[in-house]
Amino acid sequence: MSGGRPREACGVVAVSGHPEAPQLVAEGLVALQHRGQESAGVAYRARGGPIRLERGMGLVLEVFPGLVVPGEGSFAVGHVRYSTAGTSDLANAQPLLARTHLGPVALAHNGNLVESAPVAAAPPGPDASDTALVLAAVAESRAPSLEKALESVLAQARGGFAMAALGPDRLWAVRDPRGIRPLVLGRLEGGWALASETCALDAMGARTIREIDPGEFMTIEDGAAPRSRRLFPREAAAPCIFEAVYFARPDSLVAGSTVHALRRRMGGELAAEHPVDADVVLAVPDSSVSAAEGYAAALNLPLEQGLIRNRYLGRAFLEPDPLRRDARVRRKLAVIPSAVAGRRVVLVDDSIVRGTTARHLIGRMWEAGAREVHLRIAAPPYRHPCHYGVDTSRAQRLFAGERPDPSALARELLATSLGYLSLEGLVRAMGGGSHCTACFSGQYPVPVGVMAGATLA
Ligand code: 5GP
Ligand code: SF4
Ligand code: MG
Repeated sequence: MSGGRPREACGVVAVSGHPEAPQLVAEGLVALQHRGQESAGVAYRARGGPIRLERGMGLVLEVFPGLVVPGEGSFAVGHVRYSTAGTSDLANAQPLLARTHLGPVALAHNGNLVESAPVAAAPPGPDASDTALVLAAVAESRAPSLEKALESVLAQARGGFAMAALGPDRLWAVRDPRGIRPLVLGRLEGGWALASETCALDAMGARTIREIDPGEFMTIEDGAAPRSRRLFPREAAAPCIFEAVYFARPDSLVAGSTVHALRRRMGGELAAEHPVDADVVLAVPDSSVSAAEGYAAALNLPLEQGLIRNRYLGRAFLEPDPLRRDARVRRKLAVIPSAVAGRRVVLVDDSIVRGTTARHLIGRMWEAGAREVHLRIAAPPYRHPCHYGVDTSRAQRLFAGERPDPSALARELLATSLGYLSLEGLVRAMGGGSHCTACFSGQYPVPVGVMAGATLA
């Protein structure tokens, strides 16, 4: 891991039983581009035919110009990656393909395996991702079929993971026992689709059916109804709450509500907890726009566009050097001075990770002539590293992790005031339920010991 910012979780898409499966998967991947911009790939096959794999570094449209996937097939899996385990190069771009004695299999994975995950007797190299470790274990399995091999390997896996695998005439899908990483099932005309978020199902023209259950192992043969079994004993579900806070697209459904609606509620809760008398509310685009709307509406304050995001910068490169990080934020976000000058401003963001964005923007607000700058964060302080597929560095590099006292944080950021949403407020905005909140609460739903991926640091 490098830097201190959590990287976007990866995105997974799969289709079974549709004549344009590879093409549909590419459509789904573009809709999930926000989840990873480092590499993209599609593996596909006709029933019983060889697996073809097209993948490369970069955005989906760079890897598949014109969004054309050359070749045909009725089964496909695809992936957009932001590396969380294993080094960042083409060899680790997914899907990964393995030729086993049971036949070829392609695997797309979002998440991280933690201790007690299967490690093959002959690991595929020190830089291997945990996805490669799973495939190596499948290749060594004595099980009579690929399906049985995958099942027995994955039944030993722990952590946060959502995977889709492509076999000779079927797809497999699995979600970790606590349902930390997301995966949803959709219906296509004649076939089925899987994706990390419902926005990808919508983009493929699939109707959202349901979430894959925590611990569910699903087999989808062509267009036939999926068959499921439970790989793990039932445990309390712990879906990642940061999906709703930051990762997911506002039009995606999480627990039956749009992410937009959930974020508006987070903004409303934030307003109830940390109201302020101000002239204008500004969102830090794009991820906090819905929360800022909720905040402004609850306090009856005007919401204005005061920050412009440059949409043409492409990938959010990780930048370990703080000076270059600052330059990146300057490039990414510009202030509209007339929205700020002479006003008491509330700036709403969804999270503070390393503090770069907040520190920079507050400075720009003062430069533009703001009278007061109140920072409101629509989530609790991000204090603890994520071990379930979101790349955060060691806790001490996290801004709030180093500084437990919010008033000291406000002083350091030169903000007039600072207010974070409480964990209780966040959970209320989600409509209750159980979640993984480890990056905020430090309570890890799956014990974290030695990580399976040898390169995790
Ligand atoms: P900071 O500048 O404090 O390091 O990061 C906070 C900003 O990054 C917020 O505007 C938030 O929306 C965004 N952010 C939060 N998590 C992630 C992430 O995983 N990846 C990226 N690229 N941005 C993130
Ligand atoms: Fe999500 Fe945070 Fe849990 Fe990681 S630690 S899975 S980011 S809620
Ligand atoms: Mg942001």
